[in-house]
Amino acid sequence: MKEQRLSGPRPERSRILPAPNGRVLPDTRGRLLRDLRVSVTDRCNFRCTYCMPKEVFGKDFQFLERDQLLSFGEIHRLVRIFRDHGVQKVRITGGEPLVRRKLERLIEMLAYWSDLDLTLTTNGSLLKQMARPLKDAGLKRITVSLDSLDDAVFKAMNDVDFPVQRVLEGIEEAAAVGLRPIKINMVVKRGVNEGSVLPMARYFKRRGWILRFIEYMDVGATNGWRMEHVVPSRELVDLIGREMPIEAVDPSYRGEVAERWRYLDGGGEVGFISSVSHAFCRDCTRARLSAEGQLYTCLFASRGTDLRALLRRDASDDDISQLITQVWTRRTDRYSEIRSSETSKLRKVEMS
Ligand code: SAM
Repeated sequence: MKEQRLSGPRPERSRILPAPNGRVLPDTRGRLLRDLRVSVTDRCNFRCTYCMPKEVFGKDFQFLERDQLLSFGEIHRLVRIFRDHGVQKVRITGGEPLVRRKLERLIEMLAYWSDLDLTLTTNGSLLKQMARPLKDAGLKRITVSLDSLDDAVFKAMNDVDFPVQRVLEGIEEAAAVGLRPIKINMVVKRGVNEGSVLPMARYFKRRGWILRFIEYMDVGATNGWRMEHVVPSRELVDLIGREMPIEAVDPSYRGEVAERWRYLDGGGEVGFISSVSHAFCRDCTRARLSAEGQLYTCLFASRGTDLRALLRRDASDDDISQLITQVWTRRTDRYSEIRSSETSKLRKVEMS
């Protein structure tokens, strides 16, 4: 049996990955800019109680107007500049990215860079009809968020009465059109969906899709987060391991968010994203671009840097490059490492 990784330090394999143009941009802690998460909309058709609770994101909530969103052309230009600073992976997210009209057009524009690891995270509700156009546009892989196979639990969590079967059909379609690998993200919240952990593990193990458990985080300021609601990954490793023995696997690259574990019977892998119990700030290589073009260097940031203003002021690529360089090289954040009941009350940007 290998080292039980969740209780020890993360191994430091493959310290520095080669960037396509050899460019590296380290921050104050030596962390390189490698990943960019691009939110294409602040809207979502779910109201997950832990993310966009109805009481806050109700009918009167003012979402961004269309012209406030970055256009596909603006996103494309920024991704090109970020690539020049060492970004190798781009994840399209939201809100719910599939509610953005003609998203496949953006995918096609970004897939032009064949060396870019381009992926997308979705709640899967529109995946059945979108999987084919996304694949044809050049998307290779996908992550689907799904918190339970139990319809009652799932509906209570998405809070819009959305049936689990339609998400499963979306995942099947993604597999059928050849999006690979398919990863499934499950947020586990104490007292809400712990009972769904084993059924989810069994179901996805059988199909060979990679299930990843995410610890419930204090993102934003609207989900009423409390430490008691977090189910530490260690507990889940033990729970799953008792029925389906697993062992830790080395990360595929430095900065990998999920800790990888494999089933001893050869039934594939599961992952654990332990941002609360085992913070991975020291390996964090991610920048985030919000739907209205704010650049954030931490999921828990309270302030961003306005790149849209530059884009719309006809700034040159050099001007934008300089600002990105300035922001990243001055980056000091390590929120998850210093998280406490006090920091969790700070005003932070909403994840959605
Ligand atoms: N709508 C898309 C989706 O559902 O995947 C993309 C956006 S969603 C904000 C991205 C991921 O963040 C989802 O997997 C979601 O479950 C996760 N998430 C949202 N709030 C969270 C929280 N408080 N703690 C942990 N994960 C959270």
